Amino acid sequence: TPRVFSGIQPSGGLTLGNYLGALKRFVEKQDEGGETIYCLVDMHAITVWQDPAKLRHQTREMAAGFIAAGIDPARSILFNQSQVTAHVELAWIFNCVARMGWMGRMTQWKDKAGKNSENASLGLFAYPALMAADILAYKATHVPVGEDQKQHLELTRDIAAKFNNDYGVTFFPMTEPVIEGAATRVMSLRDGSKKMSKSDPSDQSRINLTDDADSIAAKIRKAKTDPEPLPDTLDGLKDRPEARNLVNIYAALAGMSAADVVAEYAGGQFGSFKPKLAELAVAKLSPITTEMNRLMQDPAEIDRILGRGAKQAEAIARPILNEVYDIVGMIRSR
Ligand code: ATP
Ligand code: MG
Repeated sequence: TPRVFSGIQPSGGLTLGNYLGALKRFVEKQDEGGETIYCLVDMHAITVWQDPAKLRHQTREMAAGFIAAGIDPARSILFNQSQVTAHVELAWIFNCVARMGWMGRMTQWKDKAGKNSENASLGLFAYPALMAADILAYKATHVPVGEDQKQHLELTRDIAAKFNNDYGVTFFPMTEPVIEGAATRVMSLRDGSKKMSKSDPSDQSRINLTDDADSIAAKIRKAKTDPEPLPDTLDGLKDRPEARNLVNIYAALAGMSAADVVAEYAGGQFGSFKPKLAELAVAKLSPITTEMNRLMQDPAEIDRILGRGAKQAEAIARPILNEVYDIVGMIRSR
């Protein structure tokens, strides 16, 4: 039976990229009625240093954002990663299965470690093994993610296959990435060659789910574009990454195809398209923001929800981990 798992790092606040590329898909998967497990991956977040008080706040706020966007803790399992130790236990075993060379080829590692990789944390290097463990601790079959995580999901399959092969078992499934929608890679509003990220130092590069209507409108107004009007066909957006990005965002928010958006605004100037986009973004995001702020009034309730989710997650992962320990040859005498 299909089992959906995915996660987002509480390394900042939710962005429009996280919403369109991931969270909106999570809600769809839940509403399709499958088994859905969603995780605030706080252990991943600390691969880059996080202020402890901020991390706690961001984790609660992200949980509130998930619920406000439509994740129902009665239908989906929602929890933070560090409360279910199966993730790090399996990650250690995967550290011993995965190869250094595989990790070194990951573009996220190269991007985040930058030129001074000697100074990056060991955790940042091993990140994809923990991600594989997140998924495979539940034997999840489907993982909705943005386009940037495709490489890590391929690695997850490589790790699963190598584990199965090394131990002569058919144990871990080959997980399918689910990369869907009109905005699987939302780009920075300041630089069409970089993806929008919650950890980008520039707040102007992204729309946050906590932004109010005025700042959303201002950020879209200032978003980088070229001087050309909207083309007549989608083809005309080739080699215009910033323009293409705004069209994709519009399409994803409106539930339209990018081709239909271009057809509707053909020949129009970005000066008039941007206010329409801002209006649409505010209409779609502000109800979520309002609900998220309301939920944040009761942080103890959020903690209770995460605690209950962690118990449910643990109940699925622990028996799988016990089997893994048996397969690997670890004595389990209590
Ligand atoms: P960080 O900068 O800390 O890595 P992030 O914004 O990249 O933060 P992640 O927690 O790494 O967010 O990713 C959570 C999910 O959001 C993943 O499924 C990822 O693919 C998706 N995602 C992240 N950025 C984008 C984006 N710009 N467009 C579409 N999906 C995205
Ligand atoms: Mg990321």
